[in-house]
Amino acid sequence: MNEFQLTAGEIKKEDTGRERLTSSLLERINAVEDKIKAYVIKPAPAASAKKNSGLLGAIPVSIKDNICVKDEATTCASKILGGFKPPYDAEVISRLKESGAILWGKTNMDEFAFGSSTENSFYGATSNPHNLNYVPGGSSGGSAAAVAADETIISIGSDTGGSIRQPASFCGVVGLKPTYGRVSRYGLIAFASSLDQIGPITKNVEDSALTLNVISGYDPKDSTSADIAKPDFIKALGKDIKGLKAGLPKEYFTSGIDPQVKKSLDEAISVLKAKGVEFIPISLPHTEYAVAVYYIIATAEASSNLARFDGVQYGYRQINKEGIIGMYRATRGNGFGQEAKRRVILGTYVLSSGYYDAYYLRALKVRTLIKKDFDDAFKEIDCVITPTSPTAAFRKGEKIENPLSMYLSDIYTISANLAGIPAISIPCGFTKEGLPVGLQILARPFDEETLFKTAFSYEQATNWRKVKPKL
Ligand code: GLN
Repeated sequence: MNEFQLTAGEIKKEDTGRERLTSSLLERINAVEDKIKAYVIKPAPAASAKKNSGLLGAIPVSIKDNICVKDEATTCASKILGGFKPPYDAEVISRLKESGAILWGKTNMDEFAFGSSTENSFYGATSNPHNLNYVPGGSSGGSAAAVAADETIISIGSDTGGSIRQPASFCGVVGLKPTYGRVSRYGLIAFASSLDQIGPITKNVEDSALTLNVISGYDPKDSTSADIAKPDFIKALGKDIKGLKAGLPKEYFTSGIDPQVKKSLDEAISVLKAKGVEFIPISLPHTEYAVAVYYIIATAEASSNLARFDGVQYGYRQINKEGIIGMYRATRGNGFGQEAKRRVILGTYVLSSGYYDAYYLRALKVRTLIKKDFDDAFKEIDCVITPTSPTAAFRKGEKIENPLSMYLSDIYTISANLAGIPAISIPCGFTKEGLPVGLQILARPFDEETLFKTAFSYEQATNWRKVKPKL
């Protein structure tokens, strides 16, 4: 086995490969990156660890390019942030550095995390390592592709409506969206502040727990950070799941689901049943409103968050003859891509007087009902099991001209963000075209341990992780 194929857990256990690790990864990047295009900024050959001893000592971790790294370009895959170098580290970056991790380049994404395919990047699209004609998912598609193609050991992404879990599912890797408030958002360039959450994309469940141990915990610099006890997530691995009650929401297993995804899910359910998990049919009755509610709240918050990119404070500026207003217009007109503009227009519309009550306020009320559906369900069950996405990866170009069909592909992931609960996607099979399928597990707020023990137990009983893309 090559060093670049190892997980962080394996590297730590054996203490093998550390000397050769970065050179082996750089060779790998040289060999495959032209096909994948996972990085906006490739790792520097000189990148080296400060210490070997921390939780992620000498482990390369790539970072989605919407997370601030002091004095290093942070672009959000947008032209408008060209030339911007943050004067500070995001809290997750400080914690990663403290743990001895090697910061391993900045990964590609949909501009400002708007999208589900990583095609909305100013720097060009990323390819799915399992089939280069297919998208890697999005918006953390660069992170998921980099992990799947063994161009990094771990990657950090962000998830507002599924942007960690859906690309993890499309690329056959593990993606975790922690509970809202579990990981500090300080230094994450905001998309929709009430939904955004940073989390790990990894090759296996153990590395996910290990990374969450490093990046989670209270941070007074983020006013929504939760000041609650942080368990050692590694201890959840290997715990018995016999007697665990899992809900199967009928709204997620409807005609919209691809038969091959359904088949993989059914097989995964049998594996978990054999481990003693009890499956209970449940209903989450407001699921049908989730996509509409999400695209009102997310665009409203995005339009407000993007107002700061005006050509004065950050990055790119376009001057013209029409004074300061002309400069704002030219900067934003040339600096934002199509999808960013669409979201600013939509978000401004739903927040404008006369429409606020009809759209934004109503969406907030339905969001409360969606959260209540989960609260009610979790009185009877310990976790919910669903597919991560109704289909496996789609072809490049298939949905880019039709934003609505792109938005609908998030149908299974966005409820977790609206409800603020944790969710994980793990590989559970392949389609006959050789594309990965993902299984999603959702749990009560701050109960990531149930996700880890269930996911780990399933992973131990299956071999999906070992199926590598042929590159
Ligand atoms: N695909 C969703 C969107 O475009 C989710 C994005 C995300 O989670 N950042 O809004």
